[in-house]
Amino acid sequence: MTDIYGLTYKKMRDALEEIGEKPSRADVIFPAIYRDGITDLSALGFKDETTEKLSGNFYSGELECVRVLSSDTADKYLLRLSDGNTIESVMMKHEFGYNVCISTQVGCNMGCKFCASGKLKKVRDLTAAEMSGQLIAIKRISGKKISGLSIMGIGEPLDNYDNVTDLISIAMYQKGLDIGAKHITLSTCGLVPKIYELADSENPVNLAISLHAPTDELRRTIMPSANRYSISEIIEAARYYSTRNNRRITFEYVMLSGINDSVQQAKQLAELLCGLNGYVNIIRYNSTGDQAFTCTPHEQIMAFYDILKKNGIGVTMRRSLGSSVSAACGQLRAETR
Ligand code: SAH
Repeated sequence: MTDIYGLTYKKMRDALEEIGEKPSRADVIFPAIYRDGITDLSALGFKDETTEKLSGNFYSGELECVRVLSSDTADKYLLRLSDGNTIESVMMKHEFGYNVCISTQVGCNMGCKFCASGKLKKVRDLTAAEMSGQLIAIKRISGKKISGLSIMGIGEPLDNYDNVTDLISIAMYQKGLDIGAKHITLSTCGLVPKIYELADSENPVNLAISLHAPTDELRRTIMPSANRYSISEIIEAARYYSTRNNRRITFEYVMLSGINDSVQQAKQLAELLCGLNGYVNIIRYNSTGDQAFTCTPHEQIMAFYDILKKNGIGVTMRRSLGSSVSAACGQLRAETR
């Protein structure tokens, strides 16, 4: 039995052909399950014989919603997978629409010191079905149309490359959720070979890279993955990605008081990114209950911001949504208590 939510349009056509059905049935099934929210495969209006074949070969693996925590700016969903593991997804409420942030793994092995998710060990990768299942569950429960997708919840998306690229294809397909590539952002801690692979892939979505430090020495102390790839390798990969796809790369930079937020570090960062088609997205550090880190005071964040600006680097400040329900960046960990 195959979970139908894990099939890209092309894979659905192939799977239908394999069971002796017309591939074009995918043109009916895709909008029904993604646009109309139909979960019962016997309610698709096909003749009995087709319905039997569909029900005998496919199922729609809905995720069970354990809890929703709501705030004005974001809702956090705790979802249970069929093997009992739990994950979290967040719906961010913007004036211009609803953006869903999905998890890509149960736990995460990247071990970033400032991130709550990094404190969990990776249990396993999520399947494409479990990722599109997050979108389906949130769409059904909230009743909202999802206009943007952030692939930056729990897990490292490029450490689950094939399933994540299938998910992107599913989310983008026009007869389904129809989320445009411009409205999809994938965030990575910087797995260099996979950045090149995504750059050359069918759907090179917006890329955000968690940089968080201007030197390898400092980066290695807060992000273990920095031992595998240097900042210069990451910058080269980013340059390739942006040139190949004509996209602006986002460099995420979480403000950690006394660690990565000095005037000198702002200048080093500006130097690194000089001439690159990218910009810095400054993120306030959200508390994870770890005493080792606090967020840089507001005035100092603004000083850091100004230095980047003065040196010709584009900068934005990420609006911190959902911190009151521990749904903000770095706070996801799927607490079940
Ligand atoms: N593994 C991916 C995506 C998940 S994290 C990555 O590393 O990019 C999404 C973003 O939240 C990353 O930029 C991450 O560094 C940031 N983040 C992690 N912990 C945080 C915290 N406590 N406060 C603010 N941002 C945090």
